[in-house]
Formats: sequence, C-alpha cells, structure tokens
Amino acid sequence: MGKSSKDKRDAYYRLAKEEGWRARSAYKLLQMDEEFNLFEGVTRVVDLCAAPGSWSQVLSRILIKGEKFGRAAWEDKQEKTRRYVLGEKANDNKPSATEEKDLLNPRQDVKIVAIDLQPMSPLEGITMLRADITHPSTIPLLLQALDPETFDPSATSASHPVDLVLSDGAPDVTGLHDLDIYVQSQLLWAALNLALCVLKPGGKFVAKIFRGKDVDLLYAQLKLVFDRVRVAKPRSSRASSIEAFIVCEGFCPPKGFKASLDNPLGAGATLPPGNETGSERTKPSRKLREDGITELELGSEDEEVGEDIRWIAPFLACGDLSAYDADASYHLPKDRQILDPIQPPTAPPYKRALEMRKAAGGAYGKTKGL
Ligand code: SAM
Repeated sequence: MGKSSKDKRDAYYRLAKEEGWRARSAYKLLQMDEEFNLFEGVTRVVDLCAAPGSWSQVLSRILIKGEKFGRAAWEDKQEKTRRYVLGEKANDNKPSATEEKDLLNPRQDVKIVAIDLQPMSPLEGITMLRADITHPSTIPLLLQALDPETFDPSATSASHPVDLVLSDGAPDVTGLHDLDIYVQSQLLWAALNLALCVLKPGGKFVAKIFRGKDVDLLYAQLKLVFDRVRVAKPRSSRASSIEAFIVCEGFCPPKGFKASLDNPLGAGATLPPGNETGSERTKPSRKLREDGITELELGSEDEEVGEDIRWIAPFLACGDLSAYDADASYHLPKDRQILDPIQPPTAPPYKRALEMRKAAGGAYGKTKGL
C-alpha cells in the first residue's frame, strides 16, 4: 500500500503524522484517558513494549509538560471562555501565568520508564530500556531506572513504586490467527506478572488484549487482584480487529500474595507453591491447569470469585463519537501533501533485507532476475 493510499484508508495514521505522534496508537491511549482519567494522581509510570514511542510521547506531554488533549482541552477552553465572558480574564487564547510557568518548567517529580526489545529514539523526560518484558532480569533493571539512588540490588523482594503500568505489547503478527492470539496472550501475562511485581496498592494496569478463547480466565484472574476491571475499545482501534484493552484499577493483591517473574501467573510449566501467610478467607494459591496455564485461586469462602463463577468484564467503547472512524476510508484532496512518518523504525526486523536490496543496487528481486 502506497503512502497516499494508506493516508486515505487510515485516518489515524495520517493524523498521527500531522500532529507529531510517532504512531497512530497514541490516539488509543488518549481516547482511553478521556474515558478513564488514567493519569489522575499518577507520577510513576512504566510503558511496556513502548517502541516506537507514541504512548511515551503522550505520557511525556501530559504528565511532564502538562499539556491537555481531547475533553480536558475542550473543558479548559470552556472554562477560559466562561471567565472571559464574566470579565475575569482579558484574553481567552493566552495561557494563564500558571499555565505558562508549567509549560516552561516541566514537572520534575514524574518518572517514566519505557521498555522495548527494539531501540527507541530519545524522548524528553523518559528513561528508555532495551529489554525483554518476559525475562525476570528486567524487573531489577526497571527498579534501578526508577530509583537509581536508592535501588538495592541485594533486596530479596521487589519494592512497589509504580502508579501505572501500560502495555501495548504485540508480537510480529504471522496471520495465523490462533498463533497470533497465543503469542499475544503470553506477552500480556508477562506484562501482568511484571505489573504485579512493581505496582503500588491502588495502582492501575492497562494492556492490549486480543479477545480470544481464554479471555474470560484473564478477566477472572485480574478481578482477583484489582478492584475494577473493564475492557475498552478506543475508536481509533479498528472495529474489525479483535484488539481491545483491559483497564484495571485499584490494585489490591490478596493478603499473602507474592508476585514473581520466576513463578509467574498465566503460563507456568511448574506448579509454584501456594502462599502460606494469608488469612484463611483470602489465602491465595496457584493451580496448574491441564493446558499448562497457572491460575491464581482464593480460598473457597470467597463468594465473588469462586471457582465456577465466570466473570465477564464490562465493555466500554471510548473516544468521541465524532472522531474519525478507524475502519473508514476518507476522501483527500488531490493536491494534498503526503507527510513522512514522524519516527521511522530505528531497527526494523526487515532492516537486513533493505540493506541487501541497497547493496544489490535497487529492487532486490529485479537484480537477481526473480
Ligand atoms: N505503544 C507503542 C507506541 O505507541 O509506539 C507501540 C507498541 S508496538 C504495537 C508493540 C511493541 O511490542 C513492539 O515495539 C515490539 O518490539 C514490542 N515487544 C514485543 N515483544 C516484546 C518483549 N518480549 N519485550 C519487550 N517488548 C516487546
């Protein structure tokens, strides 16, 4: 697909280039924030699977620079107009003295760490780590990046300094539906296990899911460790795609639950020991299913999440209904200038193929007589 055709068929791809986002995914996070107010009271964030970095851009612009988007920006404008009409403000277009100060002095108390297998170009205020979120060694790396001065590498249990863990993780899609869903779910469990190790009580976890066969197991597991679990479908995510996002708020691990990437929930091959320290009612234990998935269970007295009770998460469409439809093609004027992407991939998997093509003096197939 040419750049111009992609611009027509994908309004968010085009908009991202126009508005300076590295990827169209930025709109998914912005639209979820509009619905769930994700960043309220948040100062420490981990952005998992972050390359090329559009979610990190959103974090940097909202949390560090104090910019407003969507409904927040609209409400801001309404408030300014109101004050202008009441004569409290001279000019509604100029930022107030406090806003100007905020823009000039980015917040210093915010800490954001972005992690990906791929390298990422730097972004203001973001610490970037090149690491695998499925590997246990990533947690100490992350904790060190969050608190370089106080990090203790000999500590036996992880500290819990994070307010919000985001994960937009996706493997390279093969087109084999079942395989793609499976690999995606592995990434999701890895993100969840990492989040369980670093989230503060009351913290939030937002992650991409593919709504496949085992998704209700996931919802039920999440409901054991979070007060509120909802599924979000931002308007910028194609309706035709099974992609959605799980939005979990109020992290409340059961008493005695100890998270660990060595004994993860989700896809453990061995049965990790149950925790012996919890009260009878909430004592968590892990159960290995026949299909190799490790589940967390609470004591049988728990009425809400007993073994046979299926729990389906509420599903919310989010984003302004007047926003672009991600599945529609839009007519564009013939003379419209086609923009290049803001951030071309730094080290794409096809990099070697491009190098070979260049070395062969042009289209690889043509020179090889293919
Ligand atoms: N949220 C990003 C943004 O807004 O720019 C887009 C993320 S992209 C859809 C998915 C990312 O997941 C890819 O960059 C890929 O490298 C990353 N990823 C896949 N498996 C990973 C793993 N095991 N550890 C870390 N990152 C991983």
